[in-house]
Amino acid sequence: MKTILPGSTIGILGGGQLGRMLALAAQAMGYRIVGYTPEEDSPLSQVCAKTIVASFDDLDAIKLFAQEVSVVTLEFENIPTIALEEAQKITRVSPSVKALHISQNRLREKTYLTDNGFPVVPFHHVDSAESLEAAIEKIGVPAVIKTSGFGYDGKGQSFVDSEEKAREVFLNNFQKADCILEKYMHFEKEISVIAARGAYGEVRAFGPIENLHKNHILDLSSVPARVNWRVASEAVEIACAIAESLDIIGLLCVEFFVVDHDRLLINEIAPRPHNSGHYSLEACPTSQFEQHIRAITGMPLGKTEPHSAAAMANLLGDLWSKGEPEWSYALQVPDIHLHLYGKAEARPGRKMGHLTACSRWTEEAQELALRARDRLSASRIG
Ligand code: ADP
Ligand code: MG
Repeated sequence: MKTILPGSTIGILGGGQLGRMLALAAQAMGYRIVGYTPEEDSPLSQVCAKTIVASFDDLDAIKLFAQEVSVVTLEFENIPTIALEEAQKITRVSPSVKALHISQNRLREKTYLTDNGFPVVPFHHVDSAESLEAAIEKIGVPAVIKTSGFGYDGKGQSFVDSEEKAREVFLNNFQKADCILEKYMHFEKEISVIAARGAYGEVRAFGPIENLHKNHILDLSSVPARVNWRVASEAVEIACAIAESLDIIGLLCVEFFVVDHDRLLINEIAPRPHNSGHYSLEACPTSQFEQHIRAITGMPLGKTEPHSAAAMANLLGDLWSKGEPEWSYALQVPDIHLHLYGKAEARPGRKMGHLTACSRWTEEAQELALRARDRLSASRIG
């Protein structure tokens, strides 16, 4: 495969913060970026050379986009596969149509992983009152009902703690959607691994990363994850094996639950940079964003072992409830780095930015990141 050299143009589908940070890393290496998003003034378009503003199913616009770039990649999964199919008639695409098709739908994803021998949280397909009864029988309660498609940050899912509740929630909210019933796991920890696979099959991994969610949204990610070496190496092995099995070129994030001390169950996968990997911008020789760009352009992968422990705290729109936070208050904490994504409107639950702290120990890094964020909640500009 021909290497795509700096000076060439890379196309990114999706205009969010992951696209923005991918673009910044690619531009540092000398690539030109063309974005594609339905959104005006997106986090990506603020930093890239050109943006095509059009819907993802506008195939004429996709064609023009593909003609302009040497490779097309994406920063979120809810892009119709037909857009990638159209683009790949003209140029290289990474991840593949197959990887996107599988990972954008929970039912397909979990079925694929099960069929290929990877350990997933027990689930059952639900698309009717009858299949719900079969699912309740097989999975039991407590459980989580999740739509098969279009979920992120906990959207499209409901916790149910009784069979009655499962029927009621399905009838009221999920009847028109294709979904799954999944066993609710009393996990000990959530961890993720971001595997990177190069164009010639070499693999490297970030993590495992320890993740804490609040209201189903990632709140705090830290490395090194406090899990034993066996769990750590098994998580890395599984993530790299899935990347190989899906023939990924680029990144593949795998989210796990650690249950019963040392058992790993896969929660979900994503063939793109991941929120839990943002620590790599400051803590690793190669960030997840640079690694993705290296992989899709056919460049050698970089080292991923962190220089230090690190913790990343997300900044959600809720922080803006009384106005713009006073950023200098956070930056007074030593070794804190601020990232803001350029989003104009701060809605509750919306990811607006993040803070990263590097330190000697996981606990110390967590304490610094949380202290810096707490100082923001207490402060306001003006
Ligand atoms: P999203 O696509 O919104 O990230 P996830 O399936 O990863 O959806 O769910 C978000 C979070 O909700 C998980 O990281 C976890 O904290 C919690 N969660 C989801 N499914 C389960 C489950 N089966 N058991 C326990 N917690 C769950
Ligand atoms: Mg998730």
